[in-house]
Amino acid sequence: MAQSLKVAVIGAGVSGLAVARELQREGHRVVVYEKQNRLGGTWMYDPRVETDPLGLDPNREIVHSSIYFSLRTNSPRHLTGFSDYLFTSKQYGDSRNFPGHEEVLKFLDDFAKDFGLVELIRFNTEVVRVERVDSRIDEWVVESRTSGLSTEDIFEAVMVCSGHYTVPRLANLSGIEKWPGKQVHSHNYRVPEPFQDQIVVVIGNGPSAYDISLEIATVAKEVHISSRSPNVKCSKLDNHENMWQHSEINNIYENGTVCFQDGTAICADIIFHCTGYNYDFPFLQTNGIVTVEDNRVGPLYKHVFPPRLAPRLCFVGLPSRVLFFTMAELQSKWVTRLLSGKAVLPSESEMLADVEEHYRNMKERQTPKHHTHLILPVDDQFEYLDWLAAQVGLPPLDGKLKDIRRELSRIYMSPQRVGWREWDVDSFINRNCSWVESRSPQMGIIRSSFTFMLGTICGVYIAQNYNVPNIRKLTNTGVFMAKKVEETYRKPKKDKDDKSDG
Ligand SMILES: Cc1cc2nc3c(=O)[nH]c(=O)nc-3n(C[C@H](O)[C@H](O)[C@H](O)COP(=O)(O)OP(=O)(O)OC[C@H]3O[C@@H](n4cnc5c(N)ncnc54)[C@H](O)[C@@H]3O)c2cc1C
Repeated sequence: MAQSLKVAVIGAGVSGLAVARELQREGHRVVVYEKQNRLGGTWMYDPRVETDPLGLDPNREIVHSSIYFSLRTNSPRHLTGFSDYLFTSKQYGDSRNFPGHEEVLKFLDDFAKDFGLVELIRFNTEVVRVERVDSRIDEWVVESRTSGLSTEDIFEAVMVCSGHYTVPRLANLSGIEKWPGKQVHSHNYRVPEPFQDQIVVVIGNGPSAYDISLEIATVAKEVHISSRSPNVKCSKLDNHENMWQHSEINNIYENGTVCFQDGTAICADIIFHCTGYNYDFPFLQTNGIVTVEDNRVGPLYKHVFPPRLAPRLCFVGLPSRVLFFTMAELQSKWVTRLLSGKAVLPSESEMLADVEEHYRNMKERQTPKHHTHLILPVDDQFEYLDWLAAQVGLPPLDGKLKDIRRELSRIYMSPQRVGWREWDVDSFINRNCSWVESRSPQMGIIRSSFTFMLGTICGVYIAQNYNVPNIRKLTNTGVFMAKKVEETYRKPKKDKDDKSDG
């Protein structure tokens, strides 16, 4: 019989809910700690911003979510949600394929309700310390605070699901210390009004930088987007009177001037950092076994387990720019299986060797250290997800989802990016993925039979009407042609590279 453990889950966002469901299904005893008064994590919009707009003051009151009022999902409904609890089959008033954030929150509320997860959550309870008891791997003390009262509980395993889109990561700008203007990080952006009539430099190239720039431009005097992408020349954005694209920033001066590498300079009021987030686990005390250095949480086997503490301590939801819900679900199934004793991990030294290999590969590809948990290009992401699926005895990720994700990247990277959220995903599926869906052997037989019949009918028709002597040869030609037509439409469009968020 599988073992039943007492497990602490820190956080009731997508990751915490996903893992709580799997653990509960397997008969583990689960407590979910949530410092806020409701579930949903990132997807719970909070109109407050922090007192320090750059998030540098250690004494500031931390606001967890970074989403802004107008935020819509970066990826369509089809790529959001769980394998057996689809976002496509739920609607809460916003039927768009890329809905607003409220829609995702309602989806998570329903998910938690339908799987009896709400009862497991201790709301308004912040975990302030997680530590092994006497260096034992199978006993962990979790210290938490509710309304100023401290409590300690002992668990046999701890799942860290506390999110990583809260602590701002800032651009390193030469001369910034003397710059007289304002600075803000996207974590503290909610609405465009504070940017009225301002000249704003937005640093970043991700979906948030793009969305926020467009939104700010509706009220600001000028918006200048600075991107690290190579070979960017200063140019005015099509259809936007007050928006420019620039290269990286070279230097910033005391008189308010921002100089770009493309040779241009402007006098700005605000520098807006859309430069991502730092991993931070202030509650975790592992005596240096797990560290965060330059945004590398390590060592972690497959972004989940510190080899020395596996499987009793794990991180769910660490990688970014992935099909987040799918990944959280697969990671959750994997860790649960391991905790139940239904699967085993490689030895500690084998896991460490795997981590080292990952670091070596990054070095060879010249990937910076702070991108350790960024799984790009998109096919690497699929490899990771398929690997996770294999660990829990599931088939690789549905080809349809892969095709949609690839196409999303293609659209996102194309000059027509404007309006990418209006992409008609269902038409794309009908045009490109219907054959892909039929990858099962049974559907393959039906498809081949259909192709053969079509070819035969064409062949016979031509032979009868055009006085052709060799009917058999013609029929074969018909089959061949029908096959070619079928193959042409079956092949999904592929994108080689991907830098977009998902
Ligand atoms: C601007 C933005 C847009 C995004 N858009 C998309 C998108 O379109 N599609 C997509 O799939 N993903 C998107 N993401 C990624 C998104 O973060 C994930 O979808 C997902 O919400 C992450 O879930 P999580 O549970 O790992 O973390 P979170 O959602 O951050 O949840 C962590 C939870 O842990 C709690 N917590 C933290 N510390 C403690 C503690 N010490 N004690 C108790 N509780 C604690 C927090 O209160 C929170 O509820 C976006 C992210 C951002 C920032």
